[in-house]
Amino acid sequence: MHDKYGREITYLRLSVTELCNLRCRYCMPEDGVCKKRHDEMLTREEMIMAVRAAAALGIRKLRITGGEPLVKAGIVDLCREAAAVEGIQEVCLTTNATLLPKLAAPLREAGVNRLNISLDTLDAEKYRYITRLGELEEAMKGLEAALSCGYEKIKINTVLIGGFNDDEIPALAELTRRYPVDVRFIELMPMYDSGDFGPEAFIPYTAVTERLPELSPVPADGGVAKLYRLPGAQGNVGLISPVSAHFCTECNRIRLTADGKLKPCLHSSDEISLKGLDFDGMLETMRSAILAKPHWHGELSYRERSRANRNMNQIGG
Ligand code: SAM
Ligand code: SF4
Repeated sequence: MHDKYGREITYLRLSVTELCNLRCRYCMPEDGVCKKRHDEMLTREEMIMAVRAAAALGIRKLRITGGEPLVKAGIVDLCREAAAVEGIQEVCLTTNATLLPKLAAPLREAGVNRLNISLDTLDAEKYRYITRLGELEEAMKGLEAALSCGYEKIKINTVLIGGFNDDEIPALAELTRRYPVDVRFIELMPMYDSGDFGPEAFIPYTAVTERLPELSPVPADGGVAKLYRLPGAQGNVGLISPVSAHFCTECNRIRLTADGKLKPCLHSSDEISLKGLDFDGMLETMRSAILAKPHWHGELSYRERSRANRNMNQIGG
């Protein structure tokens, strides 16, 4: 269906858990999340019912995210059930990759078409710093496992952080020559409690084109990234600019959090609860949420932080 600004909403991002095995500094606090009561969270049945309601309203693409979706018990079966919902044409999953050595093959078999893998640095020490708990080697093993499982597309997501990984722009982009993957640089978003990054950390996507003059533009693929390619590369370099050049006029998505809140806009505090509703209730609530989608998320900058009032692990990115 279309929202009141004429945008066709075809994409649902479903967060299946707030929990994570890492603690990325821009995403969640060091001491993790205050674990909510089980009965506050959507059950697996409710999640699938919500996907069915979304599909009935014209959603065709589903992204499973979190928290870290791969720490959720039963994630493979959840993906299988979601992929089988009539009308859902594509199931994508966003992950930090550390659990992919075990799960890449079963997830592909369950019907996940595409993977986005988050990777902010190729330096083991810096990886430990930014994730607080992670080992680069595990993420790289996860990437290798995914590459061997026949996914239709694998994209690497890198949060661009001035003073942290801007010196690695060439090395990270080089992954598009080494592997058949896209590497997408995403501007750091100033979330509710996303660490103590100073203004210098919030650098615009143009830092990438400045560092890599050999990039040539390629046509967009319908997503929000501006696409480029290095000579001889197997995949694209994508630039995503939620802060310096928002793409709200093209926004085709709604989000559902693990505690059952529909978010018509990532950076708004507006939330509509689906928890406890039956299918018809979910359908009508989702319809209202789509109609309530604002035309843009308002100014975002180091000073003007997101109005979402949640950290990214509680939304799903
Ligand atoms: N745990 C999974 C992962 O890391 O891929 C999925 C959930 S994570 C919240 C989804 C995406 O949001 C990741 O690519 C992460 O880098 C990104 N993200 C989290 N906080 C962010 C922030 N403040 N600015 C930009 N991207 C952010
Ligand atoms: Fe976990 Fe992903 Fe957030 Fe990192 S970005 S803390 S891996 S949810």
